[in-house]
Amino acid sequence: MLIDRACTQLQSAIGVTAGPVHARTFRHHLGIPQYELGHGRILAEVAAAERRHPGLFVTGNAFRGVGTNACTADAERVTDAVVTYVRSTMPEASPARLASTPRAFE
Ligand SMILES: Cc1cc2nc3c(=O)[nH]c(=O)nc-3n(C[C@H](O)[C@H](O)[C@H](O)COP(=O)(O)OP(=O)(O)OC[C@H]3O[C@@H](n4cnc5c(N)ncnc54)[C@H](O)[C@@H]3O)c2cc1C
Repeated sequence: MLIDRACTQLQSAIGVTAGPVHARTFRHHLGIPQYELGHGRILAEVAAAERRHPGLFVTGNAFRGVGTNACTADAERVTDAVVTYVRSTMPEASPARLASTPRAFE
């Protein structure tokens, strides 16, 4: 069924009409997190753990969106938090070095 759908989409997208020589459906069961009921509580617990342990920063697809856009946006948020933390805890750190901290989109 999934393979049929993929073939149909390939046909409409790029005009491929031949069927696959070899096809296998592989489900990435552990590839993408499934958010379950209570996910908000988990996020709250993670945020509480970050507050309890200054310098701990958590990001990734298990938390605020699985798509690459959401992951990138959250990584940018965390990057800002890390820079703020380092600036506040390591005043001796070179401003030029911190200013050149890589960001996702700039
Ligand atoms: C098959 C598949 C198809 C997908 N298709 C799409 C799509 O079309 N569009 C979309 O928006 N999203 C898609 N996604 C989802 C999206 O790609 C992921 O959710 C997202 O990339 C996850 O980002 P992440 O930073 O959390 O994890 P990752 O991108 O997996 O990054 C984690 C990084 O940490 C590294 N790492 C792991 N352990 C350690 C360690 N101990 N020390 C150092 N480094 C470590 C890994 O090598 C990896 O580079 C897809 C996902 C899968 C699995």
